[in-house]
Amino acid sequence: MQEQPQETILKTHFITIQENIPLSDKNWFKSGGNARFFCEPTTSLEFQQALQFAQLHKLEIFILGEGANILISDDGFDGLVIKPQLKDITIITKDDLHATVQAGAGVRFHDLITFCLNNNLTNLEEFSGIPGNVGGCIYINIHYYEFLLDQFLTEAQVIHHQTAEIITVKPEWFNFGYDQSKLQNKEYYLINATFKLKVVDHLETSYAQGRHKEIIRHRERRYPTQGTCGSFFRNFHPQEVANTPKKLIYVAYYLDKIGIKGELAIGDAMVSHQHANMLVNKGKATSTDLINLASQMQKMVYQSFNIKPQAECQLVGFKTNPLE
Ligand SMILES: Cc1cc2nc3c(=O)[nH]c(=O)nc-3n(C[C@H](O)[C@H](O)[C@H](O)COP(=O)(O)OP(=O)(O)OC[C@H]3O[C@@H](n4cnc5c(N)ncnc54)[C@H](O)[C@@H]3O)c2cc1C
Repeated sequence: MQEQPQETILKTHFITIQENIPLSDKNWFKSGGNARFFCEPTTSLEFQQALQFAQLHKLEIFILGEGANILISDDGFDGLVIKPQLKDITIITKDDLHATVQAGAGVRFHDLITFCLNNNLTNLEEFSGIPGNVGGCIYINIHYYEFLLDQFLTEAQVIHHQTAEIITVKPEWFNFGYDQSKLQNKEYYLINATFKLKVVDHLETSYAQGRHKEIIRHRERRYPTQGTCGSFFRNFHPQEVANTPKKLIYVAYYLDKIGIKGELAIGDAMVSHQHANMLVNKGKATSTDLINLASQMQKMVYQSFNIKPQAECQLVGFKTNPLE
């Protein structure tokens, strides 16, 4: 009898590896094809096994968080998708003023904020309403107004993509910037992160809880909250806008000027009526529709301002960059 490849895999690895798993229900655009292989490690040991599996079978790897900042090709991902389910949240140290809290890469950031507020710890509520897991949030160094996540990071554990060695690193290691971290080189993946919080009394906790709710309400009024990846294009670097009349780096300014908000659409893929830099899947949009819409937006900005917006949203599974 012919040997079943999947059975062989399961005998040599403790972690369960699944084949041909849909990804459209695992990302915020609700589009895209399947993962050839898929697994959800719940411990760092299982994460290591997943990486060893990819090494053994020479597979490309993609680490999936909550899928809030990605667009997956309709052809899917021809490799191993690892969705970390490391979900522990632990108070590591605490004195009268400060505490440190460690959260696994698979913890929803919203759950981390709730945990902190329930324990009279504040700081992270500034990021209320931003979807994502701790891994995805560190990867892009999430930001809201003047706050960047790296301001609150004290330490992290990361795993090497090939050797599966786990190291403990300090914030400097990440070379954080606006929308930037060393994780974007894809050499290391996040296992967990430790944040520095303020220890507060019940009154201050109530204020922080109020702020948490108000930020969420404010965001819901200003941005679409479903079928989108948030800002699709990144802001420009100053040198990119050096020859424009106003030299503004904000990509939303240029997208607003071309009058596409709530107007430009391809199939069910549409530019949000709330925000010109947010694409929305109104129902049955494919990733190809979303890419065609983004490409159209690039062309329109280029024709009007001679500069080309570049995607901030991570394009996953495409053989070549469809938005160059
Ligand atoms: C409605 C909406 C509003 C948003 N508002 C904001 C905002 O105000 N500010 C802001 O900064 N962002 C915002 N975003 C973007 C998004 O919330 C962030 O980029 C978030 O960090 C995505 O996290 P994720 O877990 O969903 O990552 P995913 O989308 O799953 O992945 C994004 C990238 O992170 C990598 N990654 C994920 N986990 C790991 C890991 N453990 N180790 C290494 N790499 C990893 C992935 O490989 C991928 O390259 C918004 C998005 C939406 C949909």
